[in-house]
Amino acid sequence: MTQNKFLDTLQKRQKTVPVSVGGIQVGGGAPVVVQSMTNTDTADIEASVRQVIALANAGSEIVRLTVDRDESAAAIPHIKEKIKAQGVDVPLVGDFHYIGHELLEKHPACAEALDKYRINPGNVGFGKKKDVQFNSMIETALKYDKPVRIGVNWGSLDQELATRLMEENAKLPEPKTATEVTHEALVQSALLSAQQAENLGMGRDKIILSTKVSHVQDLIAVYTMLAERSNYALHLGLTEAGMGSKGIVASAAALAVVLEQGIGDTIRISITPEPGEARTKEVKVAQELLQSMSLRAFTPIVSSCPGCGRTTSTTYQTLAKTVQEYLQEQMPVWRQQYPGVESLKVAVMGCIVNGPGESKHADIGISLPGTGENPAAAVFIDGEKFTTLRGDDVVEKFKAIVVGYVEKRYSLNKAAS
Ligand code: SF4
Repeated sequence: MTQNKFLDTLQKRQKTVPVSVGGIQVGGGAPVVVQSMTNTDTADIEASVRQVIALANAGSEIVRLTVDRDESAAAIPHIKEKIKAQGVDVPLVGDFHYIGHELLEKHPACAEALDKYRINPGNVGFGKKKDVQFNSMIETALKYDKPVRIGVNWGSLDQELATRLMEENAKLPEPKTATEVTHEALVQSALLSAQQAENLGMGRDKIILSTKVSHVQDLIAVYTMLAERSNYALHLGLTEAGMGSKGIVASAAALAVVLEQGIGDTIRISITPEPGEARTKEVKVAQELLQSMSLRAFTPIVSSCPGCGRTTSTTYQTLAKTVQEYLQEQMPVWRQQYPGVESLKVAVMGCIVNGPGESKHADIGISLPGTGENPAAAVFIDGEKFTTLRGDDVVEKFKAIVVGYVEKRYSLNKAAS
């Protein structure tokens, strides 16, 4: 992204009204916030505390938990207390469906402890109860001075609204497609509910909207409509994105298009973890997406070539993996010790074809010898040849050079030295 393009994007994002979620600013031009959601039983306090802390340590700036029954609601204040006792102050969001109004009313300590309530207008209540129950949740939010996310979801869309729009559409001389009407219903559901909250006295600075769908083109369509019609802060996410690379690719494809237009103030990547896979993966994917778009920097990036017939040994793969893992392991300490280190760019390249050029573009790069080349690895720092490494311990030697570079360039004490 060019600097001008970046500024355009920032200016567009600044049009949304900023919302503070437990002290984290969402919208109003603030950096796009990464959030995640637990998959523990919220009533299992110890398991939920462990996962909230893991997500926060991975970089999740807001964590959402399901609040589906009395036991979950009762657990929330304890979870909050326990994470704080361990030095973690990440804002917690309660995800409510069907009986949120009851739970918030019955559990004032939960209502107080949460930093935001997620309300789904599609299942907050049905028929005459819908408005009453929605209003009850908004009134509780007003009472405790909490923001809300009005989160519409394709899978639980307000059927009364959808049916009415379908009927109206059928009478038009040129009816829209069913997909277009569904998009309209999603957007209207969010906007009408937000208006209802404002009518009860909630400020726009307390409202975040989302309209989650599970297909890329639908997400682009509905968020573009939402951004055109309002200035509420927007939570982005492709719901039910799927497992493995499918979920990651679909989320990245959808979110990148709208983020590039300056739409979206906070993101969550809803990938299904593989059995036994860490929940924190969704945080890492969100960070990598934002960093690859130059919207934020979280951890040093290691650029590495894909390898080809010129890389018949696995040295460069091992080096790229080792360096990437090493940098990630160091980040919790380095973030404090070496401000700005998250922007570091490292290149690990497999041969002379693109190796020196790519390495010169990075802050620090290494061009390993391809098949048939002289067994020597040229290291470049800030665009200049620094040294040539040889032998079986190239990996360790290169790591040491990276550490030396970080200490020299980012050390808090460098001005004094
Ligand atoms: S840099 Fe060399 S090894 Fe890597 S992909 Fe290009 S030609 Fe192949």
